[in-house]
Amino acid sequence: MFLLLLLAGLLLQGDAQDQASLWRGNDRSGRCVYSFTVPSPVEASCPQPAAPEVEALKVRLGVLEMLVSQLSGKSLQPPGGRQGAGDRAQAELQDALNRAVAERSLLQGEKERLKREMKALQLRMEEMRRETERLRKRPCPQTPAAPPSHPQRDRAPTRPLEGCGDLLSVGEPVSHRRADNIAGKYGVWMQDPEPVSPYGPNMVWRIDTVGTEVRQLFGYEDLEQLSKGFPSKVLLLLDPLESTGATLYRGSLYYQRRLSRTLIRYELAAEHVAARRELPHAGFHGQFPYSWGGYTDIDLAVDEKGLWAVYSTSKAQGAIVISLLDPLSLEVRRSWETNIRKSSVANSFIICGKMYTVASYSAPDSTINYVYDTETSQGKAVSIPFKNKYRYNSMIDYSLAQRKLFAWDNFHLVSYDIRMSHSPAT
Ligand code: CA
Repeated sequence: MFLLLLLAGLLLQGDAQDQASLWRGNDRSGRCVYSFTVPSPVEASCPQPAAPEVEALKVRLGVLEMLVSQLSGKSLQPPGGRQGAGDRAQAELQDALNRAVAERSLLQGEKERLKREMKALQLRMEEMRRETERLRKRPCPQTPAAPPSHPQRDRAPTRPLEGCGDLLSVGEPVSHRRADNIAGKYGVWMQDPEPVSPYGPNMVWRIDTVGTEVRQLFGYEDLEQLSKGFPSKVLLLLDPLESTGATLYRGSLYYQRRLSRTLIRYELAAEHVAARRELPHAGFHGQFPYSWGGYTDIDLAVDEKGLWAVYSTSKAQGAIVISLLDPLSLEVRRSWETNIRKSSVANSFIICGKMYTVASYSAPDSTINYVYDTETSQGKAVSIPFKNKYRYNSMIDYSLAQRKLFAWDNFHLVSYDIRMSHSPAT
């Protein structure tokens, strides 16, 4: 209504441009108001107040000026009480950054390892696909295949070693220690079955193998001290170590030198390198690792028969090669070529001259899927349940000292009881 009246008023005003006119209408409060309009006798037009746009701009400018002065006031605040807190915050930030960088480089290594692993898996998948195709194309045999011959049965039986036999079963994993930082995600732990003074038979040794400069060997008085995390000895290796294949025997640590096929015998008591020798033609640094990856190209093992190396060569085309080594000189005494691909299994261990392979490093319910007997030079498929409780088993070895399996499963140093077909001599 008000708008209508205002409009009428405006029209009236327009009709009476050159003379006095009466304007009547309601104001905002609804009250009736009379106004008279008289043209100016002297001015053609009124001097206009500033346009509303200009007023608005002025207000906005004022606000901006205020903001600028506030902001510049903050940035120009003189150093004072806030400075100390600032320094502390900066130091904390730097610290966090350093930690993040360290963590990042470790994770980078892990990422690269996983990449290689993925590549290996892709290759295996392709291989399996080809194998499936080949089998599909092959015609079905008309007559059942002849049973495999067992030449070893005709041989004169060799006298079994004391307590030696076949692996029948593996118990539940028992965790002895959880590594407390990322460097212990994978590693190797071991006991010397024939220790040399000053180290006694209870001594347990451990190496965290995450990172590129792995040199520290931690010694613990016994399993309890290992569980508590109190080493009594820390040895620094001159040559950095690669992967989780190290082992202990007769007072020496045996391991593969980083980025090489060189084996090293390091005497614990004398704390020096007693022998260095290349393992002929052995692949290294990711050429023939286990399915887990992690440069597990050369895996050393000790059993009732001595010191062994499990690896592969270009000639063997990735199949596992087993060599019995001279523990003093590291020379190869004898080698066996198996027909199981190293990249197809997670790890291996040797008991009584028989090499066993584990199918998966991550499946919680895996199996020991193959055994190779160096006595008969024969391999066969088996299926013995094996548990990867923590789903990331990077090292599995037979501990001759304990007659158990030792493993490193996702930060956990675990052991497994085993049952053999002939119980160990007592
Ligand atoms: Ca092993």
